[in-house]
Amino acid sequence: MKEKYLSSSIQYIKGVGPKRISIFNKIGIKKVEDLLYYFPFRYEDRSNFCSISELKEGQYQTIKATIMAKGKRLSWRRKNFSIFELAVGDSTGKLFCIWFNQPYLVDYFKIGATVILYGKVERYQNRLQMVSPEFELVEENDFNSINMGRLVPVYRIPQEITQRYLRQLIKYILDKYLIYIKDFLPYDIRVRNDLFNIAKALINIHFPKDQESQKRAWKRLCFEEFFIFQLALMVRKLKKKQQRGIIHKVEGNLVDNFIKNLAFELTEDQKKVIQEIKEDLLKPYPMYRLLQGDVGSGKTVVATIASLMAIQGGYQVAFLVPTEILATQHYNVIKEQFSSLEYSPKVGILTSSLKKKDKLKISKEIKEGTIKLIIGTHALLEEDIEFKNLGLVIIDEQHKFGVSQRAILPKKGNNPDILILTATPIPRTLAITLYGDLDISIIRQLPWKNRSVSTLWITEEKRNWLYEFIKEKILQGEQVYIVYPIIEENFNLELLSVEKMYKEFKQNTFREFKVGMLHGRMRKSYQEKIMQEFREKKIQILIATTVLEVGIDVSNATVMVIEHAERFGLSQLHQLRGRIGRGCKESFCILISDPANFEAKERLEAMVKYNDGFQIAEIDLKIRGPGEFFGKRQHGLSELRIINQPLTQLELLKQARKEAISLIQKDPFLKLPEHQLLKSKLLERFPGYERLIFTG
Ligand code: ADP
Ligand code: MG
Repeated sequence: MKEKYLSSSIQYIKGVGPKRISIFNKIGIKKVEDLLYYFPFRYEDRSNFCSISELKEGQYQTIKATIMAKGKRLSWRRKNFSIFELAVGDSTGKLFCIWFNQPYLVDYFKIGATVILYGKVERYQNRLQMVSPEFELVEENDFNSINMGRLVPVYRIPQEITQRYLRQLIKYILDKYLIYIKDFLPYDIRVRNDLFNIAKALINIHFPKDQESQKRAWKRLCFEEFFIFQLALMVRKLKKKQQRGIIHKVEGNLVDNFIKNLAFELTEDQKKVIQEIKEDLLKPYPMYRLLQGDVGSGKTVVATIASLMAIQGGYQVAFLVPTEILATQHYNVIKEQFSSLEYSPKVGILTSSLKKKDKLKISKEIKEGTIKLIIGTHALLEEDIEFKNLGLVIIDEQHKFGVSQRAILPKKGNNPDILILTATPIPRTLAITLYGDLDISIIRQLPWKNRSVSTLWITEEKRNWLYEFIKEKILQGEQVYIVYPIIEENFNLELLSVEKMYKEFKQNTFREFKVGMLHGRMRKSYQEKIMQEFREKKIQILIATTVLEVGIDVSNATVMVIEHAERFGLSQLHQLRGRIGRGCKESFCILISDPANFEAKERLEAMVKYNDGFQIAEIDLKIRGPGEFFGKRQHGLSELRIINQPLTQLELLKQARKEAISLIQKDPFLKLPEHQLLKSKLLERFPGYERLIFTG
């Protein structure tokens, strides 16, 4: 009964009014339990502060001091720009703090009050200062409290609430409700893996007794997330095998003819994967297969052959891609390949930029079954798109789609087979743990044996050299991409942007060449026009954002320049690099970045050293950890609300997987009474799974 309190709305907590409720809702806190699971992002050791004389320049530090003077003034350099300054001191020295454009602070700080400040220590005109430090006033009753004299939690919170308010609230809830929280992790699993029980974990993640307890609390909560996730995968996999799927007619003229007609010989890896797919398509339950292969490894032709296997037996195929450019590209290539077949199945394309009339026509042809293979973007997911007999769903670059989006297409058929393509190579250890519910195929071999991409990392000083190099390449008839992290100038960021450099290059640096610009804020039809011009060599240098990242295939492009390379993730850099080296000519990926922070350096060095996507992925995994590896929209991992600690996390993930496997072996559909709590937790974390998992 009482555990109901935890799932009740925060509005029932004393002292939380409508205003605070709406603030909390904005950061995803709706239930009492959400508050307990709103973890601090750092802790401050307030059991011993360092004194001002001990502060070190360039470091983030915390001090406790008395407010000595304050004042605000207007900037003489910029209009409407105010500066607020605070002078604080302790027995060892003085420190200045400044804030910009927050004039109201002047009323907040009272002379003589004690304040805790956390920020980066800088030296400015021979005085120590912190710019916009985090601050908290000390109150009299703070001695012997949750705010002082211990490891104190610091949360990411909106401006409207204070740290001490949230601390107080969480403490109150812990005191009052913790006795009602039941541990859904079975006791034996906790013992085997040396995990805190839930109450102890929640207390120590918020108000740790010491560093060690905080770590163990973290371990337990991280394990819990992984475990639930693994369990969901296992149950789902089991369930899939029980569905009744389509037995396709995989042998036939259509496929044979197509392979014979190809302009190239399939690689051994491609043949192996085609065989794996073939076997799946013959099985009485649906295929759920993930095909991994580096960019340019030739996944599309494999997918096309799989399509023909389905079409051969009279079924339709839906091929979902993330962008319009990619849809058009696939459409053109496949249509061309089909045109030389004796019987040429009808291919269609469906994107949101189609005119209404055309869209209606296409959707009618899909419904009537005249179109056998439909390639499309999100437009395919719309409700009014219905199939006559959808037998195979292919999803390209799956990381661009959310879980719920991916689930839509299969529902338009009767348990169709599913093939997912990804160019994000996933290290094997992680692949089986993250995609435990899928079967996996890998293409490692690239079709171009002599294909070579050299990667260089240069700094700003080499810019002139780079421009000469680019000119040289263009004069040899080759084409160049230059990528920027942002579209337009942003004064806060001091970064070069697509628009700025496009102008600069077009008018000055490369004025004798044809320069084009491509970014996601342009109309789709216009983007496509630009890409077409690039393909036709009417554009020689393409200035772009990461819209280039996905599947663009122009084999004459041999140089990829990435500016501010430190701002991109490793997988993203590798993905961008995949746009070049698609022909037989030697290609160059040039990263421009001035010595950046340690992590960025690691990424750039890895890019220079390795060309193989799987190696890159291993390193990426080590740097970012499994929680971050796939970005936000992946599977249930966006559910991970835990602070990132890559290596430990990986180890925990493996442990959690092992436990999930043995639990599922014992109790496949979580029917035992001792697993009921776990089951309801699972359904709570993965809403919508119920139909898929536990029915039937
Ligand atoms: P991916 O989608 O895996 O990034 P694509 O399917 O776009 O790669 O293939 C890249 C290019 O290689 C395409 O132009 C394709 O026609 C070509 N290709 C695919 N397989 C082979 C092969 N076995 N031999 C030669 N070229 C191939
Ligand atoms: Mg592709």
